[in-house]
Amino acid sequence: MDNCREYLENLCSYVDGEVDDSVCREIEKHLAGCPDCRIMVDTLRKTVRLCREGKEEPLPEGLKARMEAILEKKWKEKFGKDEG
Ligand SMILES: [Zn+2]
Repeated sequence: MDNCREYLENLCSYVDGEVDDSVCREIEKHLAGCPDCRIMVDTLRKTVRLCREGKEEPLPEGLKARMEAILEKKWKEKFGKDEG
């Protein structure tokens, strides 16, 4: 499950079409079995589109951190894990 984090690193690039084919396939494979990451990609795509329609700027810097926060919250909900 922890490799969600690793994928997260690439999701932004993936949405932007900036990853290699092999990475792209790996991500898609992971997405097929991971609804949380699918939601993430969906959200990213919408954000990217909005950014592009609005102004020509790269992804907001805080976006990745926000995505991680969302994922982390989801994991905790899902696995009931908490520190301590
Ligand atoms: Zn995942």
